Amino acid sequence: MASQLRLCSALALVTGAGSGIGRAVSVRLAGEGAAVAACDLDGAAAQETVQLLGGPGSKAGAPRGTHTAFQADVSEAGAARRLLEQVQACFARPPSVVVSCAGITRDEFLLHLSEDDWDRVLAVNLKGIYLVTQAAAQALVSSGCHGSIINISSIVGKVGNVGQTNYAASKAGVIGFTQSAARELGRYRIRCNSVLPGFIATPMVQKVPQKVLDKVTGMIPMGHMGDPKDVADVVAFLASEDSGYITGASVEVTGGLFM
Ligand code: NAP
Repeated sequence: MASQLRLCSALALVTGAGSGIGRAVSVRLAGEGAAVAACDLDGAAAQETVQLLGGPGSKAGAPRGTHTAFQADVSEAGAARRLLEQVQACFARPPSVVVSCAGITRDEFLLHLSEDDWDRVLAVNLKGIYLVTQAAAQALVSSGCHGSIINISSIVGKVGNVGQTNYAASKAGVIGFTQSAARELGRYRIRCNSVLPGFIATPMVQKVPQKVLDKVTGMIPMGHMGDPKDVADVVAFLASEDSGYITGASVEVTGGLFM
């Protein structure tokens, strides 16, 4: 539970909100007073997240303007645009906080990586962030509102990883994209930052063989994998005015792994 209410007037759009880090971010931002638009490819999972959130939005038949679930595939331009339109129609304003957590892995050694697995990972992890960030920034600029955009990258985007050329490329792209967006949008008082988690205990990491997880855990100075809440804490800081002069940053949440 958050100890502060730094986001009382915020509307937060969270993608990938039906699982793992996106769900923890939704819970944390709602705990800090934000209204949450929880979006996922799996609409039922997004709805489950909404049920976890405190406040009036957690009740069935929530009134207009409280926590609400949305279904969208962020890799599709039309879907991303419609998502922003639906959120604005529902809450009568654009989201002032946008957290892109939607992401996938399709791991394979480069020598065997298919074009389809390359394309899909880049489409969700990088193009999806471009589409959501652009639609949100356009809505904020045209309504004269300021905001905070937080894109979830990965430490793998900085140091690479065996079996993840597609994923590492997408996550490195997120860092460069977010820095460039920060340069363009600062004049509109829209901050853009990326977060680079290390190994965080979520369904995504459950796909990694235990042998690999044990090896990586042994390399983490803090001695254990992260919890989704560890990432949510940093996202809440970046969403709030406590980070009001931070933009274009890439914040590592790794327990010291690959520092
Ligand atoms: P997760 O538990 O698998 O959650 C990812 C969520 O994104 C799922 O609910 C998934 O829905 C959704 N999603 C996938 N494709 C989507 C699409 N096209 N449109 C909308 N939503 C989509 O994974 P996580 O570990 O929380 O990961 C969240 C973010 O953190 C990802 O960007 C990931 O790359 C990043 N990250 C994670 C770690 C880690 O160690 N866990 C480390 C570094 C970075 P479905 O389940 O229906 O596919």
